[in-house]
Amino acid sequence: MDASTLAPTDSRLAAYRNLIGGQSAEAEDGRLIEVVCPSDGRPFATIPRSGAAEIDRSVRAARTAFDGAWGRFTAIERGRVLVKIAEAILQNLDELGALESRDTGKPAGQGRADMVATARYFEYYGHAADKLHGETIPFHNGYTVAVVRDPHGVTGHIVPWNYPGQIFGRSVGASLACGNACVVKPAEDAGLTLVRIAELALDCGLPPGALNIVCGLGAEAGAALTAHPDVDYISFTGSPEVGTLVQKAAAENRIGCTLELGGKSPQLVFADADLDAALPVLVKAILQNGGQTCSAGSRVLVERPIYDAVAAALTERFAATVAGPHDRDLDLGAMVTARQQARVRAFVDGAQAAGVPLLARGQVAADAPESGFYVAPALFGPVPRDALIAREEVFGPVLALLPFEDEADAVALANATDYGLVAGVWTGNTNRSMRVARAMRCGQVFVNGFGAAGGIELPFGGVKKSGHGREKGFEALYEFSASKTIVLNHG
Ligand code: NAD
Repeated sequence: MDASTLAPTDSRLAAYRNLIGGQSAEAEDGRLIEVVCPSDGRPFATIPRSGAAEIDRSVRAARTAFDGAWGRFTAIERGRVLVKIAEAILQNLDELGALESRDTGKPAGQGRADMVATARYFEYYGHAADKLHGETIPFHNGYTVAVVRDPHGVTGHIVPWNYPGQIFGRSVGASLACGNACVVKPAEDAGLTLVRIAELALDCGLPPGALNIVCGLGAEAGAALTAHPDVDYISFTGSPEVGTLVQKAAAENRIGCTLELGGKSPQLVFADADLDAALPVLVKAILQNGGQTCSAGSRVLVERPIYDAVAAALTERFAATVAGPHDRDLDLGAMVTARQQARVRAFVDGAQAAGVPLLARGQVAADAPESGFYVAPALFGPVPRDALIAREEVFGPVLALLPFEDEADAVALANATDYGLVAGVWTGNTNRSMRVARAMRCGQVFVNGFGAAGGIELPFGGVKKSGHGREKGFEALYEFSASKTIVLNHG
């Protein structure tokens, strides 16, 4: 947490508030957190520093909505409200896109694209709300068995700072579509658009209490939400360490949780790949959002005969990249916080100290404020297989290039990390593409491509230490609902 906490604060900072039971509210004790713009390191807004009291009030408000007005909405009516929220986000795209970009430091075009994707989540789940059919099961004569799907009740959502809007949209959109009432804890480092979208949602006919936003620190508001005994399900995206705490808290309450904890996602480039198509995607897959993407393609594995050619082409492209202020819309913006900047720098310095060959560094724009949290992109290769940057998630613009010998070696190397989120396979051989895709231990595989511009419709999630549960696509509706089997003995 880089933001300092204080009260009272500079009145020139824009004040964002909690939304609890449809009411805009400060923290009960008036404490605030300053929100810093990564591009210049200066505070520009405040959020409440909430804790257990505000979480308790919002869980009660959610329960009241679930038992009351929101619970009485039909699936069709829920869907209509969600589609209206999508429309409201698009109507306010200029404001929301600019806010997402300023809050996270990501380039303006990316901030805007993220808000379009956020709207699409609400549209997708709005259209899906009345299509979550149950089933009937053939049973003994004289019986009819129906399996219906029920919402969990009150769902808690802990959202990280890297894609605040999108990660909010994917979990809250699916949860509301199922009929749950939500309590959301945005990341203290970036999450202002969530406050604004929740305000807009009220005007779209979402009843008060169906969606509550409680700002605060992870160890305070976040921990209080995961520990609250009246929360029925938790959705978490963030670091493995906090994911473990969230799962422990869920276990104490004997409730389910979805954990999305990042990855060390490989892209496998075979000698028969179309390099003209692959090269720009290999660069974008690590530089998008400054590498602060759970599904970043942070390892590029290249078949030995073309390794030198790929290394040379990537070196040229990396050297030409530029990081700079969000409103300049360059290749990447600043890291989200000084802490994240220091973490990424430590990986780069550590790799250099360990003798890993550095192939290229990008630039930081000459006019970028010194006080911003910039890191020039770094390309390393050939990276030893046991090097830290070959195994650990950096969450920054650092790409590890590794050669492989043959298909079996490529598969073994791709699977040789604790993570398992996404993989990419580049080859002109269709049979091989399917063999390798099936052999990947992860939740999503792209063939001759990587990343999906949000990929709203595509089930997404990890295996191994990347977490469990699925978000996005129709499958998320099964996470945010439970089946109930009704057995009717009618003779
Ligand atoms: P984090 O896990 O601390 O924060 C993510 C969210 O969890 C935030 O909303 C935070 O307030 C909340 N949180 C923190 N402590 C909590 C607690 N005890 N109980 C409940 N909620 C809590 O992540 P970070 O420190 O912001 O980032 C550290 C590293 O995590 C990054 O460098 C990156 O490797 C990884 N990360 C991954 C993702 C992802 O999309 N998978 C997102 C963010 C960070």
